[in-house]
Amino acid sequence: MSQIIKHDQELMKKINKEMILNLIREKGPISRADLAKITNMSPTSISRIVTDFSELGLVKETNLTSSGVGRKAILLDTDPNSIHVISVEMDQSISKIGVVDFDGNIILKEEVTYDSHVMDWEKVVDKICNTIGGIIEQENSTESKIIGIGIGIPGIVDDKSGRVVFSPQLGWKDVGIVDYIEKRFGYKTTIDNLIKSKAIAENVYGSTKGSKRAALINFGTGVGSALIVNEEIYRGITNSAGEIGHTTIDPNGRLCDCGRIGCLQTFITEEALIQEARAFKNVYSIKEIFDSEIAGENWAINLIDRLYTYVGIAVCNVICMYNPDTVIITGKLIEERPEILDVIMKRVDDRIWAPFKNTYEIKGSNLCEKSGMLGVASLVINKYLDAEL
Ligand SMILES: [Zn+2]
Repeated sequence: MSQIIKHDQELMKKINKEMILNLIREKGPISRADLAKITNMSPTSISRIVTDFSELGLVKETNLTSSGVGRKAILLDTDPNSIHVISVEMDQSISKIGVVDFDGNIILKEEVTYDSHVMDWEKVVDKICNTIGGIIEQENSTESKIIGIGIGIPGIVDDKSGRVVFSPQLGWKDVGIVDYIEKRFGYKTTIDNLIKSKAIAENVYGSTKGSKRAALINFGTGVGSALIVNEEIYRGITNSAGEIGHTTIDPNGRLCDCGRIGCLQTFITEEALIQEARAFKNVYSIKEIFDSEIAGENWAINLIDRLYTYVGIAVCNVICMYNPDTVIITGKLIEERPEILDVIMKRVDDRIWAPFKNTYEIKGSNLCEKSGMLGVASLVINKYLDAEL
């Protein structure tokens, strides 16, 4: 047999396996007969593939049987505990660390705080590792299987080499975090940009499921976006596509933490707003600024009004650049005050160029603060399945 034909057959087998596993993940509990019917494959092929999944522990027979006429068939479903991922969502001063199962449930969650601008990166990572170590100990006393560690990080992340190229939020430049963690625990470790991870989670589990052209914009300690095209993240040449927070809005504006002047995020992030607000009042959080706005304090009304304008501009710019069918708004800003989604929609509708009107839908995330952890877990699970199937 020629090498090419053999290669094609192997690839076909892999595609079929992925398709059947996805069907069980989406439609389970489901019978072998229904899988054969949906995929047009022979019952023998289905049985063989299902046996492979059972051996890996991914799929199990449930104690349910099919309803309707004819012989009762045992239904299959995924085993959520067959795969566990240690998932980390890093931000400027806090990391969420937990365990995500094969079905996308967060079954354990802890938090670690630090000051990334004062501490060396090794100290920050050691703090996170101490918590990971504790979780691994707990996991080892169960039947479950950890397949790897995934970390979502704000900033420019080289997902292939496992290095953080530049993260203004963390104050990190060229940090080899994957090497460091793999040496400590021996588990395969995957990193990606946090916003790209969130977009993946929305596409697998959340608000953009089924969308072919979706954009996600995150308003948090930074401002960033991610684009999903045909179920895949658009990464650009160095995995940096979507860094809208550092597009220049005002060349005479304020200094950004990236070292340049007048970036979009200097009008939007909590830290930037607090700095400006302090000319009027000693506030420490965006919540206090919102409280002052609700109390009718003029400075706060103007500052929040300007914030909405720039958020609207950011969303309009993304819509003009990518022409998405869905725009998901995520991040601390909207988690803090979900009702601002309506304000954002109105600002975008008022500003958007006419040909784009009614071409998009703006939504909040239904995964909310879970999306970062679920996204990196998905990346780790996909890599694992790619290697195993
Ligand atoms: Zn900047």
